[in-house]
Amino acid sequence: MIYCRTVYSDYSKREGYHLQPTKSVILPVKTSNRLFDDMDLDLNGELMPVVDKTPHIGIQRAFKDSASATIEENLKKARRSLYSLMASGLHGENGLDPVTAISLVKTYIIPVMLYGLETLLPNGKNLDLINKQYKKMLKQILSLTTNVADPAVYIISGQLPAEAEIHKRAFTLFGNICRSGNTSMEWRIAERQLSITPLSKFLWKKFISTKVNSYWEKRINDESKLYPTLSYLEMSYKIGQCHPIARTVDANIRDIAKIPVRLKIATGTYILQTNRAAFNQNKIDVVCMLCKCSEETLAHFLLGCTRLEYVRKDILEKITNTCSLLFAKYNLAVEVDLLTVVVNPYAYCITSAHLELTNDINIHLEPLCRHLIYRLHHKRYELLNIMPKKKNRKGGIKYKTF
Ligand SMILES: [Zn+2]
Repeated sequence: MIYCRTVYSDYSKREGYHLQPTKSVILPVKTSNRLFDDMDLDLNGELMPVVDKTPHIGIQRAFKDSASATIEENLKKARRSLYSLMASGLHGENGLDPVTAISLVKTYIIPVMLYGLETLLPNGKNLDLINKQYKKMLKQILSLTTNVADPAVYIISGQLPAEAEIHKRAFTLFGNICRSGNTSMEWRIAERQLSITPLSKFLWKKFISTKVNSYWEKRINDESKLYPTLSYLEMSYKIGQCHPIARTVDANIRDIAKIPVRLKIATGTYILQTNRAAFNQNKIDVVCMLCKCSEETLAHFLLGCTRLEYVRKDILEKITNTCSLLFAKYNLAVEVDLLTVVVNPYAYCITSAHLELTNDINIHLEPLCRHLIYRLHHKRYELLNIMPKKKNRKGGIKYKTF
């Protein structure tokens, strides 16, 4: 080791460059039980410090757990890039529309967050940590509540889970090694470990993408069936696409403002009396506080409550008309449930053959449903005298006064 250090030092002197003193450290690697306590090495007369972790080309190398150290560092950097994008409107409510926000995250945050993890392949606790942060970030950007069911995050954003992203990157790296030719060290290690038949870069990327995507699409869709709150969103996970209910045809600020409450209704996290009663230890009355005549369920709030009838009447009529027109146009022989139409009108275009129907819903039906939900929510809050919460900069809650 001392010899190594002398060689490096001499070489740098001969070639006329300086070895960076802050980056030249000693990282003991535990290969035997021998301890390196008494090892003193010096570089150009200065003692080299012994550390337990140090970065090397952006990846943290640690005495114990390199994956954990790298993840910690990556999350820190990802959080900083997230904050730096806040100025351009990347923050839940009243900012950019979800589609744009997700594409910003995909371009600027995810590469930072997952940097170098394809070589470390985190598992167990480390993988959980990164998954948790990743989900938390997506929830914040989509203005979903923290208690929303996991599959909902992926269904709405159309993103792959962090684990799948890491796997994809690992496979891509493997593909690069396979194509690098038998002179490279990596290729020779791979050959020694397993037999390899290289595919072209394009074919390999396509191959792993299809495999990883189809696995996760099935898994998330299967999981979505297990959550009662997601009954309106089941089986609608499409990778690479935000769910259409999070999309607006033209990104104007008034439409964007209606999306958060719409997503809460669709993911079953909008708090009605029935939810409150189910999750609260204290006895809570399930009866609707507006009309006081029946239980406040989603159906009651959206379609039944008499106190909200005057808000609902015209819009609902338009929805029913548009709906029957569209469904007649495409010969849909299914029983149409009005509640499903309002919560997620796309539930009826399951096969890809319904692409045109999806487009028509985007333009004609979805804006009406979004508007209806927003108006009802607004009126309900107004009648119940609930002021919208506004968080101030210090994280406390400031009540908005009109
Ligand atoms: Zn009511």
